[in-house]
Amino acid sequence: MSILVVGSVALDTIETPFAKREDALGGSAMYFSIGASFFSDVRLVGVVGTDFPEDAIALLRKHNVDITGLQQVEGKTFRWSGRYHMDMNRRDTLDTQLNVLEEFSPVIPDTYQSTDFLFLANIHPTLQLDVLSQVPEPEYVITDTMNLWIDTTLDDLWKVIKQTDIMLMSDSEIRQLTGETNLLIAGKQLLEKGPGYVIIKKGEHGAMLVDAEGVFFAPGFPVEDIVDPTGAGDVFAAGLVGYLDKVGAVTDKTLRQAVIYGSTLASFNVEDFSLDRLKTLTMGEIKERYRMFKQITQFESE
Ligand code: AMP
Repeated sequence: MSILVVGSVALDTIETPFAKREDALGGSAMYFSIGASFFSDVRLVGVVGTDFPEDAIALLRKHNVDITGLQQVEGKTFRWSGRYHMDMNRRDTLDTQLNVLEEFSPVIPDTYQSTDFLFLANIHPTLQLDVLSQVPEPEYVITDTMNLWIDTTLDDLWKVIKQTDIMLMSDSEIRQLTGETNLLIAGKQLLEKGPGYVIIKKGEHGAMLVDAEGVFFAPGFPVEDIVDPTGAGDVFAAGLVGYLDKVGAVTDKTLRQAVIYGSTLASFNVEDFSLDRLKTLTMGEIKERYRMFKQITQFESE
C-alpha cells in the first residue's frame, strides 16, 4: 500500500522561551513524509523554491519518499515563523510568507494514481480540493487543517470535510469550527458532516478518537524535555496514517493502535528542533515507546 500527501514544505523560524532557530526545515508535508516513512511508502506533492536546501532533498530520498510530485520552481520556499509561550501548547504565528505556495497548482503524477490513503496535510483548502479532484477514489481520505482556514476559507474547508473519512483537528480548532466548547459534543457534531472518525489533538495532553461507537483516549507520552513542539500534529498524523497504511485496514482495533503510534511518534518529534529528532530515530525506539504506552495506561479494574 502507499500514502499520498499534499501539504506545505517550508523553512521555519521558531522561537521557544529557551532558544531560536532560523530557516529550519519544516512544513506539514515535510514532517508527515519523514514520519510516515517509518511505516510505509510515501508519495509527496508540494512545491519548493530554488533556495530549498539540497540536504533536505537528500533527507527525503534517504527515507525513500517519492518526490516525483514535488515541484521546484523559481522563487523562494514558503516561510513560516512562530513563537511559543512558556506553556508550549500555545504559540503565536509571527509571519507567513507564501512565496512559491501562492501560485502552486498541484499536479498528481501518473505513478501516484492508485492511492489507498490520501493525506491532506495542512494547506489551503482550495488546494486540498484540487488534489481530491485529481486522485481517483482513494480508499481513505484523512484531513488536517488550521485555524487560519476556519477564519478565511470556511466554505471550501466544509467541502473538504464532507469528503473526509478521518478528520484531524486540534481542540481549539474544533471548538472554533463548531462553536461548541465540549469536545465530545463537538466531535459528534463533526461526525454528522461526513467523516466516520474525528480525532481531536490536545497537544501534550494527548488525543481523543470519536466515532459512532464512542470514544478512545490516548495520553501524550510524558516527555521531560520538550524542545520544539512544531510539527507535532503532522507527525502524529504520520504515525496514525503510516500505521493504518502498513496494516492495510481501518478497524476499531487498528485505529486505536494507530492513535497510539501517532502519539508515540509525536512525542519523539518534540524532543528536538525541526526534524532533527526524526533524523536519528529508529523503528526500535518507536516500538519500545509504543510498548511503554501500554504500561503507563494499564490498570487493574478490581
Ligand atoms: P504544526 O505544529 O503541526 O501545526 O505544524 C507546523 C508546520 O505548519 C510548520 O512547519 C509550518 O511551516 C506549517 N504551516 C504554518 N502555517 C501554514 C500555512 N498557512 N499553510 C501551510 N503550512 C503552514
